[in-house]
Amino acid sequence: MTDGKPGFNTLAIHAGASPDAATGARATPIYQTTSFVFDDVDHAASLFGLQAFGNIYTRIGNPTCAVLEERIAALEGGTAALAVASGHAAQVVVFHSLLQPGDEFVASRKLYGGSINQFTHAYKNFGWQVVWADSDDPSSFEAAITPKTKAIFVESIANPGGVIVDLEAISAIAKEHRIPLIVDNTMASPYLIRPFEHGADIIVHSATKFLGGHGNSIGGLIVDGGSFNWAGDERYPMLSKPRPEYAGMVLSETFGNFAFAIACRALGLRDLGPALSPFNAFLILTGIETLPLRMQRHSDNALAIAEHLASHDKVSWVSYPGLRGDRYHDLAQKYCPRGAGAVFTFGVKGGYDAGVRLVSNLKLFSHLANIGDTRSLVIHPASTTHRQLSDEQRVLAGAGPEVVRLSVGLEDTKDLIEDLDQALAAA
Ligand code: PLP
Repeated sequence: MTDGKPGFNTLAIHAGASPDAATGARATPIYQTTSFVFDDVDHAASLFGLQAFGNIYTRIGNPTCAVLEERIAALEGGTAALAVASGHAAQVVVFHSLLQPGDEFVASRKLYGGSINQFTHAYKNFGWQVVWADSDDPSSFEAAITPKTKAIFVESIANPGGVIVDLEAISAIAKEHRIPLIVDNTMASPYLIRPFEHGADIIVHSATKFLGGHGNSIGGLIVDGGSFNWAGDERYPMLSKPRPEYAGMVLSETFGNFAFAIACRALGLRDLGPALSPFNAFLILTGIETLPLRMQRHSDNALAIAEHLASHDKVSWVSYPGLRGDRYHDLAQKYCPRGAGAVFTFGVKGGYDAGVRLVSNLKLFSHLANIGDTRSLVIHPASTTHRQLSDEQRVLAGAGPEVVRLSVGLEDTKDLIEDLDQALAAA
């Protein structure tokens, strides 16, 4: 028996796409154009006034990007999505729709180092204040909430890996205080975790990682879960108050359960400007077609390597929730039973210097600042991605001096293990 609904593998290949009406092209065409001709003046007026959907100018929408938006909305189970230039741009555009100067949001301390920087420093210029909480202790989110708090932000699997966040516990707090929960689902991808099923209201992605999957394109995505009721809520004026530039339209009234996605496009993307290139959208779409296959193999390879390292005499600890006995194993069984992803950390005996020697000696693993590539990648966060943080912030972010992070690729497991063994012998 089937329920008549396409499954995840089918959606990964087909959602949002159909043969090109003009040419019959089967792969999504790359609409490499800046702008689109109007039928007539009335058509132009209705597009600009948000009375009709259509294409105006690639900075605020493009047919290739639109296929990507529909596909991620389908895979995450959201109402609508928006493609932007990078994961970081996705975060700025989301907060631009939610926060006014002087507002606060609560974020988990365990985040990608670039997000910690963005929230701590760049957002100060907008008057947005981050308040940190501990994702291992959901009650710390509650304690951090004040009348100025407008959102909660967590990563589902936290970079640099090894941390599974209890989304349902944190979402219960967000719901009690009627504030939206934003989940960065980059590390898990919807193949491993679907945060809307666990109470998230908004999802962001760095599509640069597993969605694109091949280390060739920077991109970001915002998905609207359609679950948050903005209507009449004065704390979110971008959504609930008349917009002067759209003849007094109130986005939550006109667009209902996809008003947040519209606010991100019609206010954030339009005015801040971080558009995704249609060419990158095409590459990310092509990547998503194999997302289920890749994520499964990434996770299987990572588990095999984590098991090997856990019994290695040069390794002091391994933090991978797929390992039995890991502190996050039970949460992994609950939230991502198919696998705990590709990225994890371990401690090399000998601290900072041994970590630097290890990354220098690896041959098959590439030493670089990215994750989510077909190729296996390695980094020593303390000397690179987390370098700008204080010692204390580094330890709190899981990036102490001995920590090495792997993003396990799709190569043969035995080749990866051999490479790690020879580099550990020299570390
Ligand atoms: N979120 C996570 C979890 C990341 O790992 C990254 C980048 O590494 C970002 C967001 C930022 O994404 P981008 O580099 O596409 O701006």
